[in-house]
Amino acid sequence: MKLDIVAFGAHPDDVELGCAGTILKEISLGKKVGIVDLTRGELGTRGSAAIRHQEATAAAEILGVTVRENLDMRDGFFTNDEQHQLAVIKMIRKYKPEIVLCNAIDDRHIDHAKGSKLVSDACFLSGLVRIETDIDGVKQEAWRPKLVYHYIQWKNVVPDFVVDITGFTDKKTESILAYGSQFYDPNSKEPESPISSKNFLESLNYRSRDLGRLAGVEHAEGFTVERYLAVNSLGDLI
Ligand SMILES: [Zn+2]
Repeated sequence: MKLDIVAFGAHPDDVELGCAGTILKEISLGKKVGIVDLTRGELGTRGSAAIRHQEATAAAEILGVTVRENLDMRDGFFTNDEQHQLAVIKMIRKYKPEIVLCNAIDDRHIDHAKGSKLVSDACFLSGLVRIETDIDGVKQEAWRPKLVYHYIQWKNVVPDFVVDITGFTDKKTESILAYGSQFYDPNSKEPESPISSKNFLESLNYRSRDLGRLAGVEHAEGFTVERYLAVNSLGDLI
């Protein structure tokens, strides 16, 4: 099955926090989008791997993505080596996306920058025909995505461009709140974590408003890129 966009995240909920608005918008424009989580988030302060699996499934339904897979890497300890690169390459070759979205290049959680580099390296390697992979004995063709974009997470990384997500923020919030174990819940008896505060939840809204303000739209999500951005003409920017 071919997809237009595959969004990778080190933990279930990274994709929702970083780029759910963009995914919702692209799907509304007719694009096919999938999500691949690298780990099950089993080291998270709140919830459990089983609960987060249910939450990730519910969030995927809210977003309307075509598939959501989990590579079952070790939360906190996965590395950017051959074994892990091959696991990501198999996903890229399976879904042949033109665009890959992945974690922030720099962040508080060490898995984010690690996941960012792992996916980016795998996107390059996936295009090399002499790296052979198969799924259940069926050989895969080499495939290199045209573009790799890194979303923004905890830290205020300066974006290279922003996507106007006006009209998609309510649904984005809904997809985030599908992770009931992780985010602000005044009735929760679980320990506090940096992302379970009311302030964090509200910060998602004011960040998208702020990026939108700076770009002349209502709400926006920011991304960084690894090469120069090109436009066909000066009129391409909104
Ligand atoms: Zn994360």
